[in-house]
Amino acid sequence: MLKDKIRELSGKIHGDVINHRRFLHSNPELSFQEYQTSAFVKAYLDELGISWQSMADTGIVALIRGSKPSEEVIALRADMDALPITESNDVPYKSINPGVMHACGHDVHTSSLLGTARILQTLRDEFGGTVKLIFQPAEEKLPGGASIMIKEGVLENPKPHAVIGQHVMPLIDAGKIGIRPGKYMASTDELYLTVKGKGGHGAQPQQNIDPVLISAHIIVALQQVVSRIADPKLPTVLSFGKVIANGATNVIPDEVKLEGTFRTLDEAWRAEAHKRMKKIAEGIAESMGGSCDFHIMNGYPFLVNEEKLTAIVRGFAEDYLGKENVLDLDIWMAAEDFAYYSQAADSCFYRLGIRNEAKGITSSVHTSTFDIDEDALAISTGLMAYIALKRLGN
Ligand SMILES: [Zn+2]
Ligand SMILES: [Zn+2]
Repeated sequence: MLKDKIRELSGKIHGDVINHRRFLHSNPELSFQEYQTSAFVKAYLDELGISWQSMADTGIVALIRGSKPSEEVIALRADMDALPITESNDVPYKSINPGVMHACGHDVHTSSLLGTARILQTLRDEFGGTVKLIFQPAEEKLPGGASIMIKEGVLENPKPHAVIGQHVMPLIDAGKIGIRPGKYMASTDELYLTVKGKGGHGAQPQQNIDPVLISAHIIVALQQVVSRIADPKLPTVLSFGKVIANGATNVIPDEVKLEGTFRTLDEAWRAEAHKRMKKIAEGIAESMGGSCDFHIMNGYPFLVNEEKLTAIVRGFAEDYLGKENVLDLDIWMAAEDFAYYSQAADSCFYRLGIRNEAKGITSSVHTSTFDIDEDALAISTGLMAYIALKRLGN
């Protein structure tokens, strides 16, 4: 049976996948600078006899064609970039690049997809259809490697009928995965406000226009976008994490800088909210004698797991891992550039469990102590191979 063959192969390659992951983990590279990682992926694809093409500078797209006749195409995606974090784990595979760390598990995604490629290449005489492998740069940095890969045609020639991605999840035990049909992750926009007034002595407010007070009003008033204007059934988040008013106890500054994030799960509402936020902030500033420069840097769109495809993928996962090892996920207000694939094609993005409390592996992604239980690599390769071949109709 296909499942047993894949299980056997993924067991056989587990040691190599761990080694690949450790190599990548030791040699992390920042977004859009994944040159060594890219070279590593290409060299391994060459070793497997899989042809590839460069894209988006450091990105790679490769095709594995099954020998049996079929027009079906599925794409599998991994991201390759690391984060500007100094690793504090004391492990043999610790990052050797100062200030750079695979703290979001993209080393896991890349090594797993290489393992999946090896399984599929080994089985290519036994299946029909084409598997497109996408190794993309820069998930962590706007405008996102996915958007560039798509612009450069990664979803064309051939066009995949489905795109599948996986991401590590420290809340889920190794050996399990999590999945959610429909809307799953948020759009994210960066907000940059400059509130301008007129600075002066703190003892003479009547001669100044206080941008600190204006900013305070703006921060409070903007929350009505979330609590009064947003549809209560639609998740919406507005947070300000940076407020700089560089005056002193007795000095009112000329201006205040505010930076925040706006997240939601609906494109029409997202656009409307941008307009409403601008209007409120500018109106308040003006009514108080100042002005507000409201700049929004659009981030990734929301991520949606196509319902039918996700139900099918869930079934395959239950079949491969056992029903008890496939968990339901809640909406997650973080963002992910896989969302671009999900806006362009039927897509499914599931979560790979990597937690192991007994081994002390519980840290969140984007922390200096993030690590994974490498037992997860025993299923990450085979599961994706199984999903791909089943979805191709084998
Ligand atoms: Zn991340
Ligand atoms: Zn990530």
